[in-house]
Amino acid sequence: MTKASTSPSVVRATAMPEGIMTVPVIIVGGGSCGLTAGIALRGGGTECVVLERDATPTGSTSLSSGFIPAAQTRLQKSLGIADTYELLIDDVMNKAHGQAPRPLVEAYVHAVTEAIDALEAKGLPFEIVNGFLYPGHSVMRMHTMPEKTGATFMTRLEQLAQQDGVDILTQALVTELWIDEQDRILGVGYRRPDGRLEHLGCQCLLLACNGFGGNPQMVSELLPEMAQAVFAGHQGNDGSAILWGRQLCLRMADLDAYQGHGSWAIPHNALVTWAFIMEGGVQISALGKRFSDETGGYSEAAIHVLAQPGSIAWNIFDDPLLELLRGFPDFRDAEALGALRTAADVASLADLIGCDRSALVATLNEIAPGHTDRLGRTFKRSLTAPYHAVKVTGALFHTQGGLDIDAEARVLRDDGLPMPNLFAAGGAARGVSGRGANGYLAGNGLLSAVGGGWLAASVIARQLNKA
Ligand SMILES: Cc1cc2nc3c(=O)[nH]c(=O)nc-3n(C[C@H](O)[C@H](O)[C@H](O)COP(=O)(O)OP(=O)(O)OC[C@H]3O[C@@H](n4cnc5c(N)ncnc54)[C@H](O)[C@@H]3O)c2cc1C
Repeated sequence: MTKASTSPSVVRATAMPEGIMTVPVIIVGGGSCGLTAGIALRGGGTECVVLERDATPTGSTSLSSGFIPAAQTRLQKSLGIADTYELLIDDVMNKAHGQAPRPLVEAYVHAVTEAIDALEAKGLPFEIVNGFLYPGHSVMRMHTMPEKTGATFMTRLEQLAQQDGVDILTQALVTELWIDEQDRILGVGYRRPDGRLEHLGCQCLLLACNGFGGNPQMVSELLPEMAQAVFAGHQGNDGSAILWGRQLCLRMADLDAYQGHGSWAIPHNALVTWAFIMEGGVQISALGKRFSDETGGYSEAAIHVLAQPGSIAWNIFDDPLLELLRGFPDFRDAEALGALRTAADVASLADLIGCDRSALVATLNEIAPGHTDRLGRTFKRSLTAPYHAVKVTGALFHTQGGLDIDAEARVLRDDGLPMPNLFAAGGAARGVSGRGANGYLAGNGLLSAVGGGWLAASVIARQLNKA
């Protein structure tokens, strides 16, 4: 029995220790990327083992809203929603200012549709989020569970994975990657709760262990603008994939890219969905002034909010928008925690925010149907009393940079050549959001996780079948 280190390390060897079992595929991480890949592999008859550090696979996926963008799905067609792969590819590329790797975007977009159609055929009750469009999306294409939560998506994925015979080993923190001189992954070492280090060999390895949002040191180094921001994702996003990649001199991409969110209720730590903005709500600083065109996107809004006095803003909306928001469980949670405040008129709203009344009156007067303000936002409607307010800050949701991969989810070496049997997808790999915070199109996270898991599984199965 060996005591294991908890930090990711690389072991160079010619073979795994004698007597160690080998499986066709090991998947590191049991979030939506890992479980989707497992289900796809088992569906094609390939054995795989998911190694998950937690007692139950949850990951950031469980904390998410669980909205997955996909085009030309069976569900969209049955609802008469006209969408195409090309339209979604263009939407992703446009939001990323052309900086996303187009072949990867194309591969993810096709794979996510295959994944959603297959998961639906296996009984997952997908619905389409309706009532509003996220910034940058051309049509209604967010696929979700009826409960509209990532937690229920994960619960169902796990049930399906178990039912399909995917081996999920929980409380198994992978710390070691074993690799030979030809850069072929031999297997992994993982730590058990009692400190024991166990080993498993594999023919192919998929890293599905997400990014580095839960590693404050890496966030300070790579995303200094978010160093002080709240991290709303899973603590297991500790940067393992990148730390292994650095030791193996693998190529990285878009390490300064991330998904922020400008509407994180504090001190309640709950999400207020951006739907209220898209239907006419606004964000106002503690000085009673608007400070950005909020319809640009919630990710970049995180930086705008953090730049305001006290790093906070107030989400302001009225009764019809409150009704819309109450359709989202995240918001209902925030309301139940006491995040919602209501003011009968402008004067009491100013008192609530603690700002100058005349400043707030001037701000609200600008919100008028058809009016385009100095920030470039054109309003559909005015806001009418009573006003509702939620105090929010800018949060880091997850990182979008990581191991560089090709359009088959193969991890690339520093010279651009693919590793022979190492794959990465979801938050462990580079994303499709370009650089910084403003290239993130709503849903890119789960597009990369669910689409990427499906894509990687199909390439791995093909490779193993050829061998
Ligand atoms: C509040 C919030 C809301 C969001 N809403 C959305 C949304 O609606 N739509 C969208 O597209 N995106 C959303 N996102 C982003 C989305 O959650 C992520 O992009 C997505 O969940 C990534 O999936 P994943 O499988 O790559 O990672 P995860 O779901 O985080 O899974 C990774 C797993 O790997 C495990 N792991 C890590 N390291 C190891 C190791 N060394 N050994 C073993 N196991 C390990 C972790 O424990 C974890 O279970 C949201 C994020 C947040 C925080």
